[in-house]
Amino acid sequence: MKYKNLLVPFDGSEHAVNALEAAIDLADGVEGVTVHVLRVAEAAGAESGLSDYDGFEVYLNRRVNAAKEAMLAELAQANISTDGLVVAVEPSYSPTEGIICYAEDHNVDLIVMGRRGVGALRGMLGSVSYGILHNVDIPVMTVK
Ligand code: ATP
Ligand code: MG
Repeated sequence: MKYKNLLVPFDGSEHAVNALEAAIDLADGVEGVTVHVLRVAEAAGAESGLSDYDGFEVYLNRRVNAAKEAMLAELAQANISTDGLVVAVEPSYSPTEGIICYAEDHNVDLIVMGRRGVGALRGMLGSVSYGILHNVDIPVMTVK
């Protein structure tokens, strides 16, 4: 396989679980492939209610730690072992932005993500999937 760094943006939804299983399957038994699982913890300066930098750092850390705990619980619930996976949480004002930054920083060459997510109400594609498809040149595989 030509892809070496697979990124699965993970929001805990059924589609994201299916995407992660697809990525693990693609990487299975292939030398030199890394599967990154990323949760973007939405965090905004305005909503923190804090104006000083130290306070904002504490707020961000709290956000990231809570998101990591939630993600690990969701992975365990889905019976997905984190052995061999890179599990990451990044704070960002938007999931799309956080996913794009992470992909650029980690030489990601394939994104495998859910068609919809936890907010699924109607329609074919969630806003994060839409944002990624419209803003990156990296190949994207969407999974239902
Ligand atoms: P919307 O959020 O627009 O109401 P939705 O929740 O159904 O719709 P998306 O949010 O676009 O759909 O989710 C599609 C996929 O994007 C998810 O399956 C997951 O792969 C990824 N994703 C969404 N939110 C996050 C997040 N905060 N961190 C990481 N990945 C995410
Ligand atoms: Mg969503």
